[in-house]
Order: sequence, then C-alpha cells, then structure tokens
Amino acid sequence: MELYNSLFKETQQLLDGGTPRVWDYEPASVWKEIGSSELVLQKDAAYELGASGRGSANYVLFSSSAELVDRDRVLLYGPDLGEIRGECDFARIVLLRVGVLEGDDEKVYRTLKDIEFAKYRVNLEGYMIRMSPESYREQVRVSRQALRRGINFRQVGNSYIKAYKQDENVLNATVIFVTAPGFDYKAMKDVAKKANDVTGTLTHILEGLPTDCSVCALKGVCDEIEGMKELHFGIGAKGTDKH
Ligand code: SF4
Repeated sequence: MELYNSLFKETQQLLDGGTPRVWDYEPASVWKEIGSSELVLQKDAAYELGASGRGSANYVLFSSSAELVDRDRVLLYGPDLGEIRGECDFARIVLLRVGVLEGDDEKVYRTLKDIEFAKYRVNLEGYMIRMSPESYREQVRVSRQALRRGINFRQVGNSYIKAYKQDENVLNATVIFVTAPGFDYKAMKDVAKKANDVTGTLTHILEGLPTDCSVCALKGVCDEIEGMKELHFGIGAKGTDKH
C-alpha cells in the first residue's frame, strides 16, 4: 500500500517550518464521547474552526511503511482549543499505517473505505464537526461549555486514534491538527483531492475497466501517483497497454 507515499512527502513539506506540539496516544485521555453527532447552536458556540472564508482541509493517507508512520500520536501546529480566540484556519490530517492489505485488491479497497468511515464514529461533546467531502474541508463549531470544561486537541486527537484503531488493520495512527495562520491550506486541500483521486482510481481499476491510458480520464492521477499503472496492469489487464 504505497500508492499514497508521495502524498505523505507533500504533506511533510507543507508542514516543514512549523514546530508542532506532540503527544503520544493515551487511550484513557479522550474527550467525552456522545452517542450521535453533536449539535452546537450558534448561540452556544465560542468559535468555528475552518469556517467559510478560512483555510480548511481534511484528509487521510494510508501506508504500510513504518518509516512514514511508526507511532500513535497527536501533533498540533498552532494554538490549542483553549488558546484560540475566534474563527481560525483548520486542517485535520490523518496518517495511518495499515497492515494485511496486500491480498485481494477488492478487499483492500473495501478495507480502506471502512477505515475512512471511522471518522463518523467520533462524536464529541461540544465539538460539532461538519465535513464537506466534495470540497475536502472540515469545519468544527466548538461550544463555550466544552472550553470551560477544558477540551483540547490532545484529547480530541486521542478520540480519533481510538476510533481508527478499532479496525485491526490500523497498526499506527498519527492525527495532525493545524490551526496556525501562514500554512498553505489551499495546497493541503489539493493533497486531499489527490488522496481522494487515488482511492477513486482504485475503484476504477477494481471495476476491471480497460487499460488504455491514452483515452482514460484518470491518466492525470496515474501519471502522478507512482504505482497506479503497475497496479492496473497487474490486475487482469484486458485492454491495450498504450501508456
Ligand atoms: S493505469 Fe491507465 S487505464 Fe488504468 S486507470 Fe490509470 S490511466 Fe486509466
């Protein structure tokens, strides 16, 4: 599962220059979970992260390499929830090391989608998440009460890691929050789109579509992402390999 590796490098470059706060995963130190997604009314909100007009990005990258993800931890670039004073930029990036994904390709794809869905199991008190998959953004409304009770990114990150690690294929999870101004959120969103394209192209490949790159709408993705063409041509290729 090395298809996303170039995107790990791009992510690292986008964060270079920043100095994160880093916390090792502590399963006991999660923020209070509730049964379903939280509703924080405008009148109860302290502020919004990644609101419209602000930078915002959200994506998950997968790898089987321990060099890329070797621990469970939370990183924060920028002010913590208790330090933020108003609307600000926001990115949440998740890096996952996955195992046992070299077998049947359809199973690999399904497993990746299942793992991605873990984010929907994170329902936290006073932390209302609004995802916009088609625009690769995530917006969070934080309640004043949650802030009074001490909500912070370390606990929120731990909650995400706990959710991801419920899947036995997830060996390590790193959750990165970015709230500081000055980072290139637009470029992060571009990485999010590419990650989505990689997963989408996997579907195309698994559907057994013809392997004629010269007329394929996904050529841009496969030209950029190392391993895509090899994957397609390695799977029961039945078309012409005019790549
Ligand atoms: S390898 Fe070629 S045919 Fe297959 S998805 Fe990529 S561009 Fe399309």
